[in-house]
Amino acid sequence: MKARRSNDWGFPRWRDYGGGRAPEAQRLCDRHGCSEPGLCPAPKAPNKPDRWYFCEAHAAEYNRGWNYFDALSDAEAAEQAEAEQAGARAYERAKHWSWGEGDGSRSRAEMDALRLFDLPPDADEAAIKSAHRREAKDNHPDLNPGNPDAAKRFQAAQAAYEVLRVAAARRAEAAAKPAKQR
Ligand SMILES: [Zn+2]
Repeated sequence: MKARRSNDWGFPRWRDYGGGRAPEAQRLCDRHGCSEPGLCPAPKAPNKPDRWYFCEAHAAEYNRGWNYFDALSDAEAAEQAEAEQAGARAYERAKHWSWGEGDGSRSRAEMDALRLFDLPPDADEAAIKSAHRREAKDNHPDLNPGNPDAAKRFQAAQAAYEVLRVAAARRAEAAAKPAKQR
């Protein structure tokens, strides 16, 4: 049975739709690009009940260390963990954040992400993509087996890039809408 991430995101035991059709559907590993079953829970951030679900290999990689959230205050980490959750709830909430106001300002989560890439506050999409590609390539676990520092940097880069990507998409959507709504 092919597991489908979209069915299982969030509250797999409380599924309203399709629950009867695929009761054995499995949650997938939350690591981007991994299609193994996600059976190992791992806290998303300190002091938060939210969990990632990874396959064994990625849970081990995750548990070797993650210092991205350590650099943030608890409140920021909580906010960021929410921002990184895929799905309508995060997008709904993002509508009320400070981005997309037309002045080009970035949220604190974005500023933290840019700092991780050593990029200036006004870095453009090309610079962000290039920095992310470089970090991901330099620190990829496949090329750095048994190197916990590289694993940490790799995961931090993935998380930071996701923050920037989601925010940019949100801004683009906000910029495209007003003409129709006004
Ligand atoms: Zn995995």
